[in-house]
Amino acid sequence: MKSLYNDKEAKEFKTDLDLRVYTSRLLGRDSSLVLHGGGNTSVKSSATNLFGETEDILLVKGSGWDLATIEGEGFAPVKMDMLLKMAELKELSDEDMVKNQRLAMTNPSAPNPSVEAILHAIIPFKFVDHTHTDAVVTITNTEGGEDKIKELYGDKVLIIPYIMPGFVLAKLIYDMTRDVDWNELEGMVLMNHGLFTFNDDAKKSYEKTIELVDKAEGYLADKGASLHVQSEELHVDLLELASIRKEISNIKGHATISILNDSDKAVHFSKQDIQKISQQGPLTPDHVIRTKRVPAILGANFESDLNSYVKSYKQYFEDNKKDETLLNPAPNFAILESGGTLSFGKNAKEANIIKDINEHTFEAILKAEKLGGYKALSAANIFEVEYWSLEQAKLKKSGSSPEFNGKVAVVTGAASGIGLAIAKMLNARGAAVVALDINPEVTSIFNKADMIGVKCDLTCSADIQEAVAIAVKSFGGIDIVVSNAGIFTPSENLDSLSESNWEKSMDINLTSHQKLIKETAPFLKLGVESAIVMVASKNFPAPGKGAAAYSVAKAGQTQLARIAALELGEYGVRVNTLHPHAVFDTSLWTDEVLANRARAYGMSVDEYKTNNVLKTEIKSTNVADLVCAMAGSAFAKTTGSQVAIDGGSDRII
Ligand code: ZN
Repeated sequence: MKSLYNDKEAKEFKTDLDLRVYTSRLLGRDSSLVLHGGGNTSVKSSATNLFGETEDILLVKGSGWDLATIEGEGFAPVKMDMLLKMAELKELSDEDMVKNQRLAMTNPSAPNPSVEAILHAIIPFKFVDHTHTDAVVTITNTEGGEDKIKELYGDKVLIIPYIMPGFVLAKLIYDMTRDVDWNELEGMVLMNHGLFTFNDDAKKSYEKTIELVDKAEGYLADKGASLHVQSEELHVDLLELASIRKEISNIKGHATISILNDSDKAVHFSKQDIQKISQQGPLTPDHVIRTKRVPAILGANFESDLNSYVKSYKQYFEDNKKDETLLNPAPNFAILESGGTLSFGKNAKEANIIKDINEHTFEAILKAEKLGGYKALSAANIFEVEYWSLEQAKLKKSGSSPEFNGKVAVVTGAASGIGLAIAKMLNARGAAVVALDINPEVTSIFNKADMIGVKCDLTCSADIQEAVAIAVKSFGGIDIVVSNAGIFTPSENLDSLSESNWEKSMDINLTSHQKLIKETAPFLKLGVESAIVMVASKNFPAPGKGAAAYSVAKAGQTQLARIAALELGEYGVRVNTLHPHAVFDTSLWTDEVLANRARAYGMSVDEYKTNNVLKTEIKSTNVADLVCAMAGSAFAKTTGSQVAIDGGSDRII
């Protein structure tokens, strides 16, 4: 491991806090040091209060902040004298610790200080860096791990036996270091937890972490504990993945995102003796709130495997509980006997965090197996952290969920106009979205963890199958299909209608919708409160001269939706159609086209835009709103319906 510290860059940072932000981010940049909010750092500084008095304060990472992206405001300023007094207490409950740390803050709007604030305070150096480094934790999580750490670092590093984080850990270290000469120490290794380094100089404290981790990596390599993973072809049964996700959603009681990890490392891990190596526990206890203690192992009969998992989770709870309430017993990740792993979350973000933790844990376990055998903490130790009130508080803070949380939506024609507005709105309301368009730009418009753009020719079944596979592998299944893609065709009367005009409209405005339903229906049947929303056109209920190619296709699309409603109803899949009209805020309607059309009807542009019963302009976001309603609970009891969104048309009313 190499230091990322850059003297030139560091010169820009003048204050203690600025430097602290800089080196915290350097640590955060390496996922083998800290992952998703793990680890914490601090700097001891001083500040002048309202009365002109100088106070010593500890600026320590606030909870909810991630070292990779932390800002100055992410550090909570806590008065040092209070923290040092708290360290001297014999006992302190978690609740009192959190309350009094807040009381000791010099800025009431700063975030809650890390639960390790007291520990940071008692370390008598300006800068303190704490990471959950993979390399060190891999070594501590082996048979005889403590001896190995001694062999590696000698007595320059203080070894702290495992104890739960929070006050008890700070207290243990406080007691252990009363007679210690801190200047003789290079760091502290916390068994099954992580590493602390410290120095009065920001660079030296950071680089001591790098140096100690580098030594641990070297040690692993010397002992032959390295990883060589070959890539393997993985056969994926998409319908089985969707069935597993459905069952997991049932147990969890809400729609759940399920991400397939088919990386070489995950596939390799799943082919080992997983009954032994995957069932021991996480790498460090703070992973447990994300991953649960152990994964489910799913074979051909996954339903019975999930039942056994739930049973054994409840047994683990019974064995360890005092007065806690049982958490949901569903697994948060699973290992597939057929290869690869799944991670489950209430949204894509949560499932991705679990996937990332898994990647690091798999590597650590495989290396530990080569170093005498992986040995995690006892179930009782893990339970204590899983049901720790402060950890539970972290999860609860997330608040109420958006309507489409955990749901997966496929939206076609999503690179522009109405489709773009629909895809964005479904995502903003919680759904993971797979956005399809023939325009390749769709891949750059949608390139987030919970919004994937796929270039897709909807007239081609193979393209649709590929997009479906991406949806199922990336998110677990499909719950919502918005069949929106379409084209306007040139106006031609029947006596001069060109064959190509007619055929093109049929291909894109009709047949592509049938193909999409054909390929997605098997997955919608396995979805959670599934819905198809057909974006048709006012041209169906109110056709116009010269629009045969377009109107007839849209009529066919509407009829297709009615039949789909009949066929899919018994599986709980709803199919509803909306008929938009005169949605002008799309790229199709340039100012020039609008002006020409308005002139042709003898109207001003504004009159033309609002030429309906309500005299209102219809925007793509209005259409998206109706699509969300049709995909959501407002239409939970409705199928086969058609709703116009046109401001009211005297030809239809
Ligand atoms: Zn920690």
